Amino acid sequence: MGALRIITIFDEDASVLRQPARKVKRFGPELQRLVDEMIETMREAGGVGLAAPQVGVPLRVFVAELPEDEEDPQSGRVYVLVNPKIIKASLEEVEGEEGCLSIPGIYGDVWRAEEVVVRAQDVNGKEIRLRAKGFLARIFQHEIDHLNGILFIDRVQDRTALRTYVQKDEEWVAEPVTLAAHYFRPLPSPVSP
Ligand code: ZN
Repeated sequence: MGALRIITIFDEDASVLRQPARKVKRFGPELQRLVDEMIETMREAGGVGLAAPQVGVPLRVFVAELPEDEEDPQSGRVYVLVNPKIIKASLEEVEGEEGCLSIPGIYGDVWRAEEVVVRAQDVNGKEIRLRAKGFLARIFQHEIDHLNGILFIDRVQDRTALRTYVQKDEEWVAEPVTLAAHYFRPLPSPVSP
């Protein structure tokens, strides 16, 4: 088993990042192997979430893992969500900084629901329902966006606030960064449930 290549928006095969992924219909060793490799890839890259399209597989699967934190009972376990769907989102939204393994080095501020309830299947196809708050809720929303071809930069309201971090005198300092317009996509218009 080895880590998979993470596709970035700057790569020639980046179009997979912009396609809605397909529903998973076959559960079995092949899916298990993909998930195992995705977890390894996420960890190796130091990420907290990874969606299958980011490794070139257009399927509705993502993995997530919060760094261990005694204060947060949601941390310290791996989440594997197959065919996830947000069935409830809090009206309360919070703005927070996001980055993405497919947009390396670039960070921006995104508004997300503070809490979500997600219905999904586990790697064996069993129905699961998860409630996520705070950072984990943000990750779930970011990863589910990936499955719909949406990237966090599309949700950034102030593109001039996109930034990268550079080390200056042993300190990390934010510096503005400009992304060419063709890297962005308009958000799909909201559909009524
Ligand atoms: Zn991402």
